[in-house]
Amino acid sequence: MIEIAHYIDNARVAGTSGRSQPVFDPATGESSKTVALASVEEVNTAVASARAAWPAWSKTPALRRARILDRFKSILWERADELARAISSEHGKTHDDALGEVTRGLEVVEFAVGVPTHLKGDFSENVGTGVDTYNIRQSLGVVAGITPFNFPTMVPMWMFPVALACGNTFVLKPSERDPSASLLMAEWLTEAGLPAGVFNVIQGDKLAVDTLLHHPDVAAISFVGSTPIAKYIHETGSANGKRVQALGGAKNHAVIMPDADLDMAANALMGAAFGSAGERCMAISVAVPVTDAVADALIERLVPKIEALKVGPASDTASEMGPIVTQQALERIRGLIDKGEAQGAKVVTDGRSFRQDKQGYENGYYIGGTLLDNVTPEMSVWQEEIFGPVLSVVRSNSYQEAVDLISSCQYANGTAIFTRDGDTARAFAQDIEVGMVGVNVPIPVPMAFHSFGGWKASIFGDHAIHGMEGIRFYTRIKTTTLRWPTGQRTDAEFVMPTLG
Ligand code: NAD
Repeated sequence: MIEIAHYIDNARVAGTSGRSQPVFDPATGESSKTVALASVEEVNTAVASARAAWPAWSKTPALRRARILDRFKSILWERADELARAISSEHGKTHDDALGEVTRGLEVVEFAVGVPTHLKGDFSENVGTGVDTYNIRQSLGVVAGITPFNFPTMVPMWMFPVALACGNTFVLKPSERDPSASLLMAEWLTEAGLPAGVFNVIQGDKLAVDTLLHHPDVAAISFVGSTPIAKYIHETGSANGKRVQALGGAKNHAVIMPDADLDMAANALMGAAFGSAGERCMAISVAVPVTDAVADALIERLVPKIEALKVGPASDTASEMGPIVTQQALERIRGLIDKGEAQGAKVVTDGRSFRQDKQGYENGYYIGGTLLDNVTPEMSVWQEEIFGPVLSVVRSNSYQEAVDLISSCQYANGTAIFTRDGDTARAFAQDIEVGMVGVNVPIPVPMAFHSFGGWKASIFGDHAIHGMEGIRFYTRIKTTTLRWPTGQRTDAEFVMPTLG
């Protein structure tokens, strides 16, 4: 058994808590690794290491910090394959999909390398006679990142490149389901020249998270995961005086208008619903065709594509969709399909009947693509985030009915509209109460130099992630007003200072 360790002060550190849990390969259902689960003392050691590194790191010129990240970026490009293999072996996603996530994470490193420009302050000359004022943005201190299983490299890279570039030190608590990639990134940061203690990884579960949430030396928390935990993190972290951004779950709808290019929409839905086995917070899980005629024509196009989906392990380059992350998650997805059927949804293609017959992979956590028709807002398949390869069709009679359906959803991460009509698209983009909108773009994940974040129950806190929102989250503003002695006599003044 290999034990996946912590990473503190630029070295792998074996767990000492006596607690660990198995890490599975979802493609085979086998486990040859365990992950250490940190004790309170181990978390405290990681935070102490980050706290000790912060004064020097925060005063290191931004350009020098950027150059270290630039070297890290080059290592990532060279070894993206190795990182992608580590991701697939614990998450299950296909190799190309894992490479895609590494690239999207790497783009945040590219953004962070521009930090000297992003941190440039403002200067006002003569705000009063002989008085000048300037603003700068300074780092917060030790910041923690708590991340989900579905993007074990991209989501941490939404956080730490920007945090480090701004002069903070970092403690990452990755998902215990696919923890190995975090250690590769930590080692490559060390190789790129990051000083000891600036980036630490602590493996663990709720105990590690709670220790970070209550630790007096943790200044801020970035969280990405499910909505109930995001809410808990935001409430607990805020109650302990920390700055918190907590991104939660999602249920993303795509509206298909009667004038849409239906072939384009069907292909887009295939990737957006079944890519990464639907385990993406920006997956489209609900199609909302406007009119029954559009619904029928769309389903006619989708069914043969879903039936032809190649479901298999990442080791098979022909696989288009890998297994589900754990047996438990697989059973939950199956259970939700059962419930949807019992509540009246029509199972048009049934992923539950899929059997993996490739030798050596029979016990992997596979399910085929599922299409449910006649789904209504009363059903749990619409209300709950399924986080699996299940596309629900909610038929709608009009554009307004589709918009009202989306507005009634508790989640508001992403949405898309398929149409050729500029008026409709513009109205949708302007009026819809969702954080990220696509027009004929099914997964509108913003690039690194924009910011990522939903609305409503998909985010808690005031700041979205990466881009300039990331710079703002990881820094605090300081405004200095200065006057130099000119030799003129100054008297004590007791009134509120005004322009003078
Ligand atoms: P999760 O909420 O179960 O876990 C996320 C992190 O929280 C992990 O590090 C985990 O160890 C920790 N955690 C779990 N339970 C905890 C508890 N009771 N107390 C404290 N910490 C706890 O999420 P997941 O299953 O790993 O990831 C899938 C979820 O993440 C989905 O809901 C998905 O929509 C969401 N997600 C959202 C975004 C976004 O940007 N909004 C991006 C990716 C994933």
